[in-house]
Amino acid sequence: MDRPVYSLVIPVLDEEETLPELEKRAAHVMDRLDGPSETILVDDGSRDRSYEMMLEMGRRDPRFKVVRLSRNFGHQMAITAGMDFASGDAVIIMDADLQDPPETVLEMAKLWREGYEVVYGVREQRLGETWFKRATASAFYSILQKLTDLRIPADAGDFRLVDRKALDAFRSLREHSRYIRGLFTWIGFKQTGLRYKRAERFAGCTKYPLNKMVKLATDGIVSFSVAPLRMALNCGFVIAGMSILAGTAAIVLKLAGRHVVPGWASLIVVTFFLGGVQLIVLGTLGEYIGRIYEEVRGRPLYIVREAYGIGPDLLEAHATVRNSAPSVSPRNDSGDPSVHRGEHSGQDNE
Ligand code: UDP
Ligand code: MG
Repeated sequence: MDRPVYSLVIPVLDEEETLPELEKRAAHVMDRLDGPSETILVDDGSRDRSYEMMLEMGRRDPRFKVVRLSRNFGHQMAITAGMDFASGDAVIIMDADLQDPPETVLEMAKLWREGYEVVYGVREQRLGETWFKRATASAFYSILQKLTDLRIPADAGDFRLVDRKALDAFRSLREHSRYIRGLFTWIGFKQTGLRYKRAERFAGCTKYPLNKMVKLATDGIVSFSVAPLRMALNCGFVIAGMSILAGTAAIVLKLAGRHVVPGWASLIVVTFFLGGVQLIVLGTLGEYIGRIYEEVRGRPLYIVREAYGIGPDLLEAHATVRNSAPSVSPRNDSGDPSVHRGEHSGQDNE
């Protein structure tokens, strides 16, 4: 098979209901693209039949390749893994649930041929999403705009096409708290947005519950801004200023001979208030320190358990790059001879 020009990267977590439809539509798009294509399916620790189904997809059509992570590492890491194993000149990130219509990729490819190095999808309409999700998303994007110097495009998700040059730049960023759309803004290059209608999830339910969304939002803000730290400091100044004012007022009242009723209520309010402020400040510090700790441990971003259809050169390259790539496990439980055994594992990632 020719070296692919296009690589579709699709993270998959428990998507057995959507995979058959995804196979059809992704294959159709690969047929229509103006060059050889591949699809890297990243199994992010699925507990249903997704992995077996993806292997079958690969047997039916060798353009489908599978990378299986050793557990659930999360959407952002799964995308990162897929991009590490993609070999195309243009790499497209896409969700498995068909909310990002695969056909839009054809338009993205056209813009890429015109010379754009990153083409990101801008959600024109968000079908089938709750008002809560839409409201929190729009609040989050406007807060993020205010807090960071980067102009991260609003309403752009991870659905995008990336040129090899931009991809290599992105791959050199190995931070653990990943907010991928922010990182893509950070790297620069010639970028453009492409408006598209975000469809409803084809089947199944969201794999992004509220706690994962909160984590993604926190990662977005904390990894691109130190504004929360500054806010904590300013808050401290304001509270300190208020206590000086209150102290002065108490002295003045005393000197003026006014009878001051000893106020239990006001005392308790101030105590709680200060306690709360201190905890907020400490928590903010903690968010940053936690991330420093995560980075200094220098663990790989994800671990690959097995891979199917990936060229040996790519597997080898990933196992030998220290700390910047996955370690590949030597085990191969599937018994399938065509599953590449990661013989290179273990040596380098410690
Ligand atoms: N996903 C993943 N790992 C996770 C969560 C999600 O690989 O921990 C995949 C999921 O299978 C889907 C994509 O990421 O292909 C986006 O997830 P989802 O559609 O559930 O998120 P939503 O569109 O509801 O925000
Ligand atoms: Mg979705």
